[in-house]
Amino acid sequence: MSESALSRLRRKTLRIHQVLLERYGEPRWTKLDGISELVATILSQNTNDGNRDLAYSRLRARFPSWEAVRDADPQAVIEAIRPAGLANQKGPRIQSALRRITEIRGKLELDFLAEMPLQEARDWLLSLGGVGMKTASIVLLFCYRHPAFPVDTHVHRVTGRLGLRPEKMNADQTHLHMEALCPAGAHGPLHLNLIRLGREICQARRPNCPHCPLRRLCSYAQTHPSTSACAPSR
Ligand code: SF4
Repeated sequence: MSESALSRLRRKTLRIHQVLLERYGEPRWTKLDGISELVATILSQNTNDGNRDLAYSRLRARFPSWEAVRDADPQAVIEAIRPAGLANQKGPRIQSALRRITEIRGKLELDFLAEMPLQEARDWLLSLGGVGMKTASIVLLFCYRHPAFPVDTHVHRVTGRLGLRPEKMNADQTHLHMEALCPAGAHGPLHLNLIRLGREICQARRPNCPHCPLRRLCSYAQTHPSTSACAPSR
């Protein structure tokens, strides 16, 4: 992509961020330590927040520490996290990541990632196995304030419709692309507000363009005029 195209997209990203802040305000999130966020994010794969939270609470209630989760009978972990779905995959994935961190660092903590450059920290997390781009980006952004940009299914869909990324760019590639477009300090709020927009307005099957605050900035709305025909003026 040319430098001028990138500059144009950066300006558009900034405007989108501003409009979403006007609509939704500054989103809040609960800050967890790195290990807890890593486990919670693995639990969140392919399920909704409610099921993830239930599985996470059951895991915390059943085991006194992450060391206890790491060393537990795999079946006991699988039972505890069953509400999150895919428990037979997520349980071993969590225990394997916890064991690997202990092997490399000698203990279960990730705070050293705060001092690493972003790319190095991301590579470190990805090397654990069972940790993908989204999980690594969430841990680095929300626990260690790195300017990573997590891309879930909502963010991928909405950024595609808005025209912030090439149509065929996959979710993994979109992480680095959005990371580069996002204004400094906006990575967390923009990520969360795009998810909210994707859940409430820009849904997969039927985007509600007439009620979308971004319709004037959106490539999809401009190429599908019937979707925004009833748009009230802003
Ligand atoms: S205008 Fe429509 S397609 Fe574009 S972001 Fe809003 S709801 Fe999605």
